[in-house]
Amino acid sequence: MRKPAILLITAVLLITVSVFLSACQGQTQTAPDKSTTDKTLTIVTSFYPMYIAAINVAKDVPGVKVVNMTPPVTGCLHDYQLKPDDLKTLSEAQIFVVNGAGMESFMDKVVSQLPDLKIVDASKGIPLIKGDGEEGDNPHLWVSISNAIQQVNNIGLQLAALDPEHAAQYSANTTAYTDQLEALRVKMHQTLDGAQKRDIITFHEAFPYFAREFNLNIAAVIEREPGSEPSAAELADTIEIIEKSQIKALFAEPQYSATAAETIARETGAQIYILDPAVTGDMEPDAYLKIMETNMKTLEEALN
Ligand SMILES: [Zn+2]
Repeated sequence: MRKPAILLITAVLLITVSVFLSACQGQTQTAPDKSTTDKTLTIVTSFYPMYIAAINVAKDVPGVKVVNMTPPVTGCLHDYQLKPDDLKTLSEAQIFVVNGAGMESFMDKVVSQLPDLKIVDASKGIPLIKGDGEEGDNPHLWVSISNAIQQVNNIGLQLAALDPEHAAQYSANTTAYTDQLEALRVKMHQTLDGAQKRDIITFHEAFPYFAREFNLNIAAVIEREPGSEPSAAELADTIEIIEKSQIKALFAEPQYSATAAETIARETGAQIYILDPAVTGDMEPDAYLKIMETNMKTLEEALN
């Protein structure tokens, strides 16, 4: 009878210690009890492009669950306010993968409320393009395929460091996915480097990194913030730019109203094409590759 008694005491001690430890770690309301997790590592991503990158990097890693914090229809996170549900999602995770470069303007709140959450910053080491005037750096890094490759590498390295047990698998997944991205980059350069026209007009400031990569010139941005329609004066300016430069192609985005583009197209006779900044879409690992392939075909048609 002595052995079971010792076992029982040991078990009670262990439970006490783990409850004590989790109480020490727990900050607020709904912190998960880490002592009872069955080795599940929950990785939350801030928005769509980070989710697609992370599901590739963490593909088939045992015990890893990747969750996107925002619904895939959210689009860019400009001025996004954290909801109570977001904080709950984050409180149940161990790792938060963010784009960085100012896209997640709510990070101060995350860091102060969830000090144990490990942050993976996908923008690490990537040179940033300044926004206009008062604006900070342009955060739309992933729209350039070269930057997307670097972001995937960043995510792979940082996940491997945070979950060293599966480092080899993160590394292999990163290589497999960046190989696919690299092949697409080569194909896009073959298709677009010889395009006759180099001036483009886009919606919201999602494309500077993409334009730099393919040596395109953004002659005008029609609508800077999602949901903010351009004023009559801004529309007139854009129309003047189009007429002067004889630009025949306007690039709208699937996530934004095309009303302004239609007005401009009517006034100038320019044609509207859809260029996708990959901020919404299928939740599948190959979604980004498919979106960029479609963008390539659109540009090939529009610029020749
Ligand atoms: Zn944006």
